[in-house]
Amino acid sequence: MFDKILIANRGEIALRVIRACREMGIASVAVHSTADTDAMHVRMADESVCIGPPPSASSYLSMPAIISACEITGAQAIHPGYGFLSENATFVQMVEDHGLTFIGPRAEHIRIMGDKITAKETAAQLGIPVVPGSEGGVNDVETARRVAAEIGYPVIIKATAGGGGRGMKVAHDDGALEVAFRTARAEAKAAFGNPDVYIEKYLQKPRHIEIQVFGDGRGRAVHLGERDCSLQRRHQKVLEEAPGPAITAEERARIGKVCADAMAKLGYAGAGTVEFLYEDGEFYFIEMNTRLQVEHPVTEAIFNVDLVREQICVAAGNEMTLRQEDLSIRGHAIEVRINAERVPDFAPCPGRVTQYHAPGGLGVRVDSAIYDGYSIPPHYDSLIGKLIVHGRDRPEALARLNRALSELIVDGVDTTVPLFRELLKDPDIQSGNYSIHWLERWLERNYH
Ligand code: ADP
Repeated sequence: MFDKILIANRGEIALRVIRACREMGIASVAVHSTADTDAMHVRMADESVCIGPPPSASSYLSMPAIISACEITGAQAIHPGYGFLSENATFVQMVEDHGLTFIGPRAEHIRIMGDKITAKETAAQLGIPVVPGSEGGVNDVETARRVAAEIGYPVIIKATAGGGGRGMKVAHDDGALEVAFRTARAEAKAAFGNPDVYIEKYLQKPRHIEIQVFGDGRGRAVHLGERDCSLQRRHQKVLEEAPGPAITAEERARIGKVCADAMAKLGYAGAGTVEFLYEDGEFYFIEMNTRLQVEHPVTEAIFNVDLVREQICVAAGNEMTLRQEDLSIRGHAIEVRINAERVPDFAPCPGRVTQYHAPGGLGVRVDSAIYDGYSIPPHYDSLIGKLIVHGRDRPEALARLNRALSELIVDGVDTTVPLFRELLKDPDIQSGNYSIHWLERWLERNYH
């Protein structure tokens, strides 16, 4: 086992990894930018290293700075968290070239899944059902027209290098296709430095269902059921729950097995998420994330598994302790993302937290790195915490979420907390009856 792990991240996810390290008796090293000198992850880690100025490009994304921090502190492995360098194959290679261990999958698997066209092709070859669409990239309007006519409107044009819900354009008919196609390419080039796009059938009322997978890197893999992440704004997740209210035990077992078998065949190592759109009983692969997800705690709650501990164990070359036959679901869990954003326009709201009180009690988990008097820097993602509740069933989890939200105090900055208090009153949320478009429509109705 490792003696010391460096966490190449910040905020709540850095704390999450530090917690796992401490329970395992492993020393932790935090890295931070000059904007994060007073951050909680720096205080909580056993050691810390300043790796650069506030902009991520010069600090949290600086590969040489992070490798140097390992060398200075003697850390043997790097946990990347999510975002930043977590899905950067070049970084993984560099880490390994320096004789260090990357806590995550092999560079080759990150590379395959990082390009959405290759990811889709690989998924299809592995027997995973995919969304109908173009075979590979589409470079000109004529081909786009032909593909769209074949699969039928509406279609969605997506950036090959896309991520974070950006670089997608919907065309409802042939007349709208050309503009959508050109805009998608221009936006993809501007956002990702790569104009390549592909086309998919645009599903009208799907749910976003993702399967948590875990592999030992040597041909054994398991699945830990699904998360329903359909509540989205601008293709970004807002609330997640597990198990999915619309998924039956048979469907879970079937799609879970397809994913676990595929990961076993790949020789995939560590945690991963296979994302699907789900409509009328069918699953359609959209992409795979080769890292820990923001919403992993809902899975941890219902399976009583510490995913970060498992990641560390497998990366250290230990036997994977997860066995499919032992993995059974207990109860229901819901997570809400607390962002420092102003509702309804969701403009980031950095600034000083004048008062903070976290809820507690049975079945309540708060993953957050904020504290009384903390100044949220303007340079990074606006996620400041996650509130996760676990109950014996969905109604109990909802009641607990409502109760926990009533205890939560975050003063000094605007947050998404009031939004959740309102959302929970809606009968569709109470019954679990929502698709990926539901939240946008609800926001229209309630705030405009
Ligand atoms: P990203 O990598 O940017 O997160 P994804 O491919 O995972 O992109 O898609 C993000 C979200 O966009 C999905 O959860 C869904 O809401 C929407 N989306 C993507 N593809 C489709 C599609 N074919 N039809 C309808 N909605 C889609």
